[in-house]
Amino acid sequence: DKYEKELLVAQLAVQRAAILTKRVFHEKAKGTVDKNDKSPVTIGDFGAQALIIAALQHNFPDDAIVAEEESAKLREDEKLRSTVWELVKDTRLDNPDAEALLGGPIRDADAMVELIDKGNSPGGAHGRIWAIDPIDGTKGFLRGGQYAVCLALMVDGDVKVGALGCPNLPVDDAARLTAGIGENQTDDDGHGVLFSAVLGHGATSRPLATVSLDPELGKPISMRAIDDLTQANFCESVEAGHSSHGDQAAISHRLGITAPSVRMDSQAKYGSIARGAGDIYLRLPVSATYQEKIWDHAAGDLIVREAGGQVTDVNGKRLDFSVGRTLANNKGVVAAPLAVHAKVLEAVQEVLSSKL
Ligand code: AMP
Ligand code: MG
Repeated sequence: DKYEKELLVAQLAVQRAAILTKRVFHEKAKGTVDKNDKSPVTIGDFGAQALIIAALQHNFPDDAIVAEEESAKLREDEKLRSTVWELVKDTRLDNPDAEALLGGPIRDADAMVELIDKGNSPGGAHGRIWAIDPIDGTKGFLRGGQYAVCLALMVDGDVKVGALGCPNLPVDDAARLTAGIGENQTDDDGHGVLFSAVLGHGATSRPLATVSLDPELGKPISMRAIDDLTQANFCESVEAGHSSHGDQAAISHRLGITAPSVRMDSQAKYGSIARGAGDIYLRLPVSATYQEKIWDHAAGDLIVREAGGQVTDVNGKRLDFSVGRTLANNKGVVAAPLAVHAKVLEAVQEVLSSKL
């Protein structure tokens, strides 16, 4: 199965949601929404989740959905609800055929709130389940750095389709990651990329701003071949509370890598290594009890594997999306080109076990 319709709907739904998140960011810059707290994230999260779920419900009404947000806060807070609705009600794709495919506008604010709660599936190993992270990398979003709008389809616990909208990454696949990329990027000139993949059919990138029903628009992407691991480029979370920077440095050292890791928020890390802009993404557990969320990994895991990579946890197990809303069977992430993954995993395990 090539999941052609699912891919198209996923791509367009992510593109439409990213129009909203970009609007929220620019409203924040203008001061129209409060920039002194997390409210831009809240508004963007709810709005993007509602728009994506509307598109999924229109096209695949029987599918289950696992999404990060629930509507309780919106139901309580009338002002927040109307702020979100004002943005949602006139966020549309400027291609009428594409907008019609997504089902057009949401009826009213009440329908919007109800849609948000459709994301409450417990997940699991059976049937078709979509995973949504409306704004992954909230800190990056707030500071004008990297963030991603993430959507993936799992069937019987296996990821089949993934789409990642990264408004602040360069469109150009050849642009290598640079140290400042996690900071102050703009979504203007030359930025905004949409990564996607279908299991067994490769991964592609295309400009996030180009809305089209043409499936040929995407350019195939692949990971960079690494002849010399010492020249590899690592990327990691900006937040030290999400992935251990100290362990990462020790692993780099062990592999003879001297370049500092590039820090960026969100699944933009998966997209970046999938297109060879960087090489290796490690997520090194900081907390013994934290369980990774499926919406933080489903699309990225597939995109990297379809681009010629391997993705496992720090124990060498593939990520298991079949056990609910979290990756309860996994710890951390090791994503690298297939040819060097075993070597990287070995260094990860040596460093982590030396700490015990
Ligand atoms: P990143 O952009 O790589 O920092 O990852 C962002 C994601 O980290 C968020 O979407 C959160 O779901 C997730 N997160 C929150 N707390 C933790 C934690 N203690 N360890 C790992 N990931 C976390
Ligand atoms: Mg997230």
